[in-house]
Amino acid sequence: IIILGIESSCDDTSAAILKNETVLSNEIAGQKVHEAYGGVVPELASRAHQQNILPVVDTAIKNAKIKLKDIDAIAFTRGPGLLGSLIVGTSFAKSMALGLDIPMVEVNHMHGHVLAHFIDDQQKEKPQFPFICLTVSGGHTQIVLVKDYLDMEVIGTTKDDAAGEAFDKSAKLMGLPYPGGPLIDKYAQDGNPNAYQFTTPKMPDFDYSFSGLKTNFLQFLQRETKKDVDFIKNNLNDICASLQHTIINILFDKLIKAVELHNINQVAIAGGVSANAGLRNRLEEEGEKRNWKTFIPKFEYCTDNAAMIAIAGRYQFLQGNFAQQDISPNARLKFTS
Ligand code: ATP
Ligand code: FE
Repeated sequence: IIILGIESSCDDTSAAILKNETVLSNEIAGQKVHEAYGGVVPELASRAHQQNILPVVDTAIKNAKIKLKDIDAIAFTRGPGLLGSLIVGTSFAKSMALGLDIPMVEVNHMHGHVLAHFIDDQQKEKPQFPFICLTVSGGHTQIVLVKDYLDMEVIGTTKDDAAGEAFDKSAKLMGLPYPGGPLIDKYAQDGNPNAYQFTTPKMPDFDYSFSGLKTNFLQFLQRETKKDVDFIKNNLNDICASLQHTIINILFDKLIKAVELHNINQVAIAGGVSANAGLRNRLEEEGEKRNWKTFIPKFEYCTDNAAMIAIAGRYQFLQGNFAQQDISPNARLKFTS
């Protein structure tokens, strides 16, 4: 089965060709226009998707060395995400499916992040059901109990900012460009994670909160730069390492509890923040200590990509869950529908 995946939920336009569980191509066009604004501007994102989508899909098909007629179905991200961005991918998928007279399947972007673990060319082993997946991205922080490809449940989530936002907003406070997450990761590698202490939230059950940390971090920077105007520049590595260490501690505190309560020994991470070196190392450490089998996606399947949409679409296709031509995108698509 050959599936064309289309992802356009935020600021990356991506198209991928998946043959069974193997990726034949996975093209991504990023959008530089947002850099000047320090965050994604929805209207500009939607316009850039319109410019990018045709060449990106075309390149994905060419690089996969397949013909249009080889495609069995089109999978597209229906939501959640920015409405204007989702409309571009959804409309494109609909018209292409109509033109080629092939079925289409809708994908929940967050299911895509989780199911990226089932793409073939990664770790030798794939997770077995049930497993727990910590999904950490730009807009979400979820502890997901994954019972089957299409049967998953969010057992913990953030009540305010997402983990990726905690990285990006903190980076912005330090004057780093958007998105700051990867930069904090980079500077943290040469810093001392115990140089500074930041506040950690008290939340019930498996829920998260990152807004208190953001405020605490802002006050910390204000206090220290009053004493030394070059405080951030002179201590960037230690600040980044300490902040990252705090975010990872917050994430793992709840993750460990969830894994223990559900008595599951297979633990995965997914989403853009799972590209973070500190988070990846921590999962391996905890795995060794606690006898977990751990699953870490390849870098290119952490941040937004269409290969993960195609693999999630594959399972919808196998179940015969087809989308109809009257479908519209849903910016707030629920995790379980
Ligand atoms: P969502 O998936 O919730 O809709 P999104 O699709 O915008 O949000 P992703 O592309 O999955 O988010 O992830 C982007 C986020 O990942 C950004 O917040 C970015 O800073 C963060 N991120 C990417 N790489 C790293 C890294 N190495 N360390 C920390 N954060 C990172
Ligand atoms: Fe995402």
